Amino acid sequence: MNIVDEYVRRNPSSRAAYVRATRSLPSGCSRNVLYYPPFPVYLAAGRGSRVWDLDGNERIDFNFNNTTLILGHNHPAVFEAVQSQLGRGTALGAPTEAELDLAEELVSRLGSADKVRFTPSGTEANIQAIRLARSYTGREKIAKCEGAYHGSWDAVDISVAPSLDKAGPREAPRSVRQHEGIPSGVLINTLIIPYNNAEAAADVVKEHRDELAAVVVEPTQRDMSPKPGFLEAVREVTERYGILLIFDEVISFRLSPGGAQKLYGITPDITTMGKIIGGGFPVGAYASTAEVMKPLTIPETSFPDLRPARLGFSGTFNAHPVTMAAGLAAMKELRPPVYKKMDNLGQRMREGLRSILNEEGVAAHVGGIGSFFNVTWTSEEVTDYRTTITGDRTVGRYLSLDLMNRGIYLLGHPNVSAVTAEEDVTEALNAMRRSIESLKPIIKKRSPHLLGS
Ligand code: PMP
Repeated sequence: MNIVDEYVRRNPSSRAAYVRATRSLPSGCSRNVLYYPPFPVYLAAGRGSRVWDLDGNERIDFNFNNTTLILGHNHPAVFEAVQSQLGRGTALGAPTEAELDLAEELVSRLGSADKVRFTPSGTEANIQAIRLARSYTGREKIAKCEGAYHGSWDAVDISVAPSLDKAGPREAPRSVRQHEGIPSGVLINTLIIPYNNAEAAADVVKEHRDELAAVVVEPTQRDMSPKPGFLEAVREVTERYGILLIFDEVISFRLSPGGAQKLYGITPDITTMGKIIGGGFPVGAYASTAEVMKPLTIPETSFPDLRPARLGFSGTFNAHPVTMAAGLAAMKELRPPVYKKMDNLGQRMREGLRSILNEEGVAAHVGGIGSFFNVTWTSEEVTDYRTTITGDRTVGRYLSLDLMNRGIYLLGHPNVSAVTAEEDVTEALNAMRRSIESLKPIIKKRSPHLLGS
């Protein structure tokens, strides 16, 4: 039976849910990334490293809500902290000690920041961080890397996955709107730099040095690690011209107790975070020095005088107490040996994949660092957006669907968690070997160069 037929056969309840869902939800879901043809599985439960769908199919999770659940599903420490907070109220409508505790935890981990502001998502963390940088510097332009995602909003939904006929030269990429609905005026203020090309990135920054408020960089862009010297060069040129360097660590913060910035030894001016710091609940945060955070500070006055901050930005669900409690419980669990365990599992996964591909005679790039792993179906070294898109994404989609049939949930940004077991990795690698074997006719038809023919 072919892969798609088998998938349809195994997931009748998900299929029915999808048909029903398309009547009330665009594409039957609420996040574009969760849709894939013929229909996504609808999940009913998760525990530890496993998820179950509406048909009762059990799968080993390697998605963990796109890297959020670093302690797996329903970790007892997080569960207990959430229950305890629920017993004392949900959203209380005043500052709480919970947000203070989590802020102190993050400040002590980062070392590059004195203050934190919480938001309900990583998207909003980046929105606010960029507004802060504009307020602090009095400049309007920002620069971001081609291929980088910093959330679904106008100023950064630019050149996330541009088509090459619009994207301009590799060393000086053009700003391309990712979606309809983004005003063309936005393009004037968002410049694009090539990831992992220190010289070309520095050239763009130098050319616009008097207009740039910030350069936003994901220190490891998806599964692509920074080349030695890239982050250093961006740090050096931004510092030289008084431009703020924002590290988007929404994903990469999990790479060490103090994030990717500690791993690579580069100190940004502003750090944005999300995902793991909310313990599985909606969250975002941005952090910086007291000096840079000044525009957010409401001047202290004596009662009844009250003056506004220079920079207004609020949110009803900022620092939601349940999120804060869950996030703090999660961060407390994340001690150095846990990072080491995840790094080792990630390494096993990457090495295992490389040897399977090698033994099967399939050329493909295995990327990732720490707890991340990913396969790009290309014979090229993958170091930036332009090399990523040499990959055959259709093969990736077949692999993902076939692995679903084999009990492995692998989507988006594959990762191992602190509760992923050695046996989970063994099972996943066995499934991948069988999957890659069975995909060979598809690879042969679509991308024969990957088989050396
Ligand atoms: N920045 C990066 C690097 C991300 O990967 C994401 C989401 N995957 C975001 C920002 C946006 O975060 P959120 O989905 O919480 O809005």
